[in-house]
Amino acid sequence: MNEFGKVTAAMVKEFKKIVGENAVVYGDGDALNNYSRDESGGEYYSHMPDVVVKPESAKQVSELVKIANKERIPITPRGAGSGLAGAAVPIYGGIVISMEKMNRILGIDKMNMVAIVEPGVVTNDLCRKVSEGGLYYAGYPMSVETSFIGGNVATNAGGSKVIKYGNTVHHVLGIEAVLPNGEIVQFGGKRRKDSSGYDITHLLVGSEGTLGIFTKIFLNLIPLPGKTVDLLAPFRDVFTAISNVGTLITESRTLPSSVEFIDDTSIALGSKYNNITLPFQEKAGAYLIIQYEGQGKSELESIYEKAGKVLIDGGAMDVFVADNRTNSEKIWRMRRNWLEGIKAFAPHTPTGDVVLPTSEIPKIMDYISKVSKEYKVQIPVAGHAADGNLHPAPMKPEKMGLNEWKEFSEEILSKIAMKAAELGGAVSGEHGIGFLKKDLLRKTKRDQYAIMKSFKDVMDPNGIMNPGKIF
Ligand SMILES: Cc1cc2nc3c(=O)[nH]c(=O)nc-3n(C[C@H](O)[C@H](O)[C@H](O)COP(=O)(O)OP(=O)(O)OC[C@H]3O[C@@H](n4cnc5c(N)ncnc54)[C@H](O)[C@@H]3O)c2cc1C
Repeated sequence: MNEFGKVTAAMVKEFKKIVGENAVVYGDGDALNNYSRDESGGEYYSHMPDVVVKPESAKQVSELVKIANKERIPITPRGAGSGLAGAAVPIYGGIVISMEKMNRILGIDKMNMVAIVEPGVVTNDLCRKVSEGGLYYAGYPMSVETSFIGGNVATNAGGSKVIKYGNTVHHVLGIEAVLPNGEIVQFGGKRRKDSSGYDITHLLVGSEGTLGIFTKIFLNLIPLPGKTVDLLAPFRDVFTAISNVGTLITESRTLPSSVEFIDDTSIALGSKYNNITLPFQEKAGAYLIIQYEGQGKSELESIYEKAGKVLIDGGAMDVFVADNRTNSEKIWRMRRNWLEGIKAFAPHTPTGDVVLPTSEIPKIMDYISKVSKEYKVQIPVAGHAADGNLHPAPMKPEKMGLNEWKEFSEEILSKIAMKAAELGGAVSGEHGIGFLKKDLLRKTKRDQYAIMKSFKDVMDPNGIMNPGKIF
């Protein structure tokens, strides 16, 4: 266990001098409690910070970090707290550095197609702003309305458009970071290529606050896609649905921007929560939601006709085309609100995040169904089918106590994650490791683990930056 220093009243006075009286939360249990958790498990994974500070500039972050490094106080950087791996939970107490006040879009450089943002910008605010100028930020996750860009970069978030545009790492051109010694360094920038030495920019992506605190981010923009069309395809069972994912792309020779998957249990719960009924809901075992982008109506028509034929040949019960906002919104609401829909009926539902080659999805779905029977626990599943990224969500049996459930659900999700790794996958596709999947990371990436740890030790020799996460 790390030997950390303690936050003192004198230190808090220093923090107030740096960021201002109103930007420090100290001694107020209720206010501190808001920073004790993320969305991974509510109160049972929470831990109180000693103090929360809300800087407004890289210089202020740097001054705070220098004090913490000198006194060996743990720091937990925090975005919106929407994470699902416990990565923003201050498990050793200490200082939470919240990025909520660093929420300015610093520039949209149309000539270079780059957005320069502070880390506390809500992802959707950026998407909206760039669209005003005919541009598009394609790296957004499903939590687009709540999560911050800084959190997306720190977790290497995914989303529904990875098959076409890649996950967050593909959109990050540069990062300014405050390193654990307080130094402010810019890695990358507006340039699109860089073969000059190690690519530290992309080492920082997905580092979950363990290597430094991002204070400025340079993001790739592309032209706003013209129009979209959404297809909803119900299938008799999961296996038929999943086996269509690859053929849909190769046989129709069209690249969708999304291929999402949702199973029957999720649909039944989501239907009640969203007050929406989908076609074939009583008979379908699974649905694919597919989105295409194109410049005009006729281009999209020709795409969805080809795609529809492949899906029907592949066993779809029918293919519904949503080419207007109302119908599209209805379909996507089911998928976007998937977790909320389950949590409305089982509030203590943790979420797995396995990724594996798409061809192996039927095997993992079969395994999840076996685990569900063995443990007598319902496990609805949804995910980004085209990326092979699935989210199993075990639901607490009504009579089981919370403490028992915590261990039980961890065991269930660990089994599924280990199986995914065995099938050529990994234990997290987009949510990150946090502290909840540390053991799984160590067990499944044995050969890389020591290399990762040696980067951490070089960059943060005092181990103050988000300790207890990833390692
Ligand atoms: C309903 C729902 C849907 C979701 N859908 C998706 C999805 O489609 N795809 C997906 O990938 N995730 C999804 N998530 C998970 C979550 O939204 C993402 O992990 C998101 O990227 C976290 O961003 P945040 O700002 O909330 O970060 P936080 O949860 O606050 O922090 C996450 C990590 O980032 C670090 N961090 C935050 N800011 C900085 C910074 N400035 N510098 C350094 N480190 C920093 C923290 O220390 C922590 O390690 C979903 C969550 C919910 C609740």
